[in-house]
Amino acid sequence: MKPLTLGEVTVNSVVERDGPWRAPELMYPNCDKEIAISHLKKMEPFVYDAHHNMLVITYQTFILKTPYHTILIDTCLGKDKGYGPPHDFSKQPWLDGFKRNGLRFEDIDYVFCTHLHIDHCGWNTRLIDGRWVPTFPNAKYIFSKREYETWEAETKKGSNPPGNVWLQNCQPIMEAEQAILVDDDFQLDDMVWITSTPGHSPGHVCINLQSGHRRAVFSGDVMHHALQCIEPDWSSCFCWDAHQSALTRRKLLASVADTDTLVMPAHFPSPTAGRVISKGEAYQFNFIKD
Ligand SMILES: [Zn+2]
Repeated sequence: MKPLTLGEVTVNSVVERDGPWRAPELMYPNCDKEIAISHLKKMEPFVYDAHHNMLVITYQTFILKTPYHTILIDTCLGKDKGYGPPHDFSKQPWLDGFKRNGLRFEDIDYVFCTHLHIDHCGWNTRLIDGRWVPTFPNAKYIFSKREYETWEAETKKGSNPPGNVWLQNCQPIMEAEQAILVDDDFQLDDMVWITSTPGHSPGHVCINLQSGHRRAVFSGDVMHHALQCIEPDWSSCFCWDAHQSALTRRKLLASVADTDTLVMPAHFPSPTAGRVISKGEAYQFNFIKD
């Protein structure tokens, strides 16, 4: 995405991977394939590869520079995690993008994870001399307590996913005393706070930003594709609780519809940010012009 300015805050993103990724009928098990394709063909060409019938899905980290802090939201897949296909793509673009933003790992004050799935907490850590250590040595990492504790329990039960995701990306942060486990009403300061948006994962949260009259919400995986504004009841195959995920999505969409709030979902391709408008019982995502 192109850098945005909201009041006193600048927002940019670092892309780890971009492009056609998954067929709509595989992504949304309860969708009607023909209806999905008919919607997609009417949408912006950059969200759907019609030739291969694939949704375009981006993996990216948001960078917020506020007057107080430099903040990352969601940290993609990360490097050296041992993932097989399709997650074994090069992670160098993320490192290059991070540098292009003029940042060093030491510069990050806070890392927020909307949730603790494989593609949202990867760069939390990196492998140094055989040990997972926090990538950002001066950062506090803000995790939803409910999210962290659920994946800790699931991992200890031996149930996957996310399996080694918690062991590699979360536990080392806690051991380094850089994790802050927060309740659902956590507020960092007068500009940044979280809201509870469970369903896609047990303790999924959105990160809200306000500066002056400008507002934005970083909505993580409440929706993976703009198609879900048109069909809010279609939950992804990756959702922890598909029914709750749909309820949460409708609630979020209703709260931002027909307002000036910019919505920045983790997986929407550039220009990523947009506004939601209501269309009867459903919605439409209007990307800002790049
Ligand atoms: Zn995701």
